[in-house]
Amino acid sequence: MKVDFYRHALSEADASAVAAVLATPFLTTGKVCSSVERQLESYFTVPHALLVNSWTNGALAVLLAMDLQPGDEVIVPAMTFIASANVVHLAGGTPVFVDVDPRTLLMTPEHVEKAVTPRTRAVMPVHIYGQMCDMKGIRAALRRARPAGGEPVLIEDCAHCFEGTRDGYRPGRHSDVAIFSFYATKNVTCGEGGAAIFNSEDLYRKTLETRLHGMSAIAVDRFSGGRYNHWDMNRLGTKANLPDLLAALLPHQISTIDERLPERKRLADRYRAAFAGGPLRLVEQVDTAVSAEHLFVIGVGNGARDAAIARLNEAGVSVTVNYRSVPEMSFYKTRLAGSAESWPVSWQWGEETLTLPLFPGLSEAEQDHVISTVRNHVYPLIAADKA
Ligand SMILES: *Cc1c(COP(=O)(O)O)cnc(C)c1O
Repeated sequence: MKVDFYRHALSEADASAVAAVLATPFLTTGKVCSSVERQLESYFTVPHALLVNSWTNGALAVLLAMDLQPGDEVIVPAMTFIASANVVHLAGGTPVFVDVDPRTLLMTPEHVEKAVTPRTRAVMPVHIYGQMCDMKGIRAALRRARPAGGEPVLIEDCAHCFEGTRDGYRPGRHSDVAIFSFYATKNVTCGEGGAAIFNSEDLYRKTLETRLHGMSAIAVDRFSGGRYNHWDMNRLGTKANLPDLLAALLPHQISTIDERLPERKRLADRYRAAFAGGPLRLVEQVDTAVSAEHLFVIGVGNGARDAAIARLNEAGVSVTVNYRSVPEMSFYKTRLAGSAESWPVSWQWGEETLTLPLFPGLSEAEQDHVISTVRNHVYPLIAADKA
């Protein structure tokens, strides 16, 4: 049996929404984007939302809006996707890696407090796999640390967590800005895309410009009043705006996301029950958090992760690795003081982890095949004596 890693659930209705945009003369950032931005503001109860063409470009626009100077530091976890650190480099700053909690793989307030220096300009917690970091605690840790350079900007990497909550709050509640990804495999998707939601008025105003080359007016405004209006450029920006053509895929997904979460949770709980008491390392679930259940990851010890991937692939099961520790990447290795083992939890998890298929629409038969392959072919690898 072949089991895909992921299948999207876009429908005929979504195709019609795109066709409706195609029937207008205006394809890029316009009315559809504005209306999705209002939808996001109401879903997250925040004053401002901006759609962007990827998490990466959205984060870059935010960091450009902050005008990072060489030597300015941004604290990021070592266990995340490379994009979280790359954008800091692209914007001219220095990523400072911190390790993560061994049970949840999340950055904690304690990690942040220890890493803050007078050069810290921002902190970027990542809600990895769908569980939210303790944002309230991280905000409090920043207030306690009081770096000489002023309170750092708190940026949430919400690529894995759109619909999750922690202690009853959603992303965007305790941060200055929270950034989402609508990449092909994310819980809300338009192929490529993303959004940033803001509590900081100042950062929102500046990002509105850095999202589009630093231009002082977006396309619809340049032609408002039926004539051409001149614009200026106040700061350096990137090209991060989302076209209406892709934004058309979002309204329905956003309005139904909470109805789809129970299906993800049912599938994730089914994996958790099947593997309970077994030899795999599983991510501990925070009692007071509702996970967005973006990825179902397992840890395979005994140096057997890559052999496990081979066994699963032979059985027709597609898997991925989310992630090897970022400081393990050659680009970072040559630029960092410590070795990859300086972030031991991230490094070890990065050696052990692999991700199983999880998406609404995964059938019971498919999931049973994945479960029995893990039990029959991966468990013995963990028990085996190493030669
Ligand atoms: C997917 C992802 C990103 C990047 O998102 P893009 O929209 O592809 O730029 C950033 N951080 C994390 C944790 C991700 O999983």
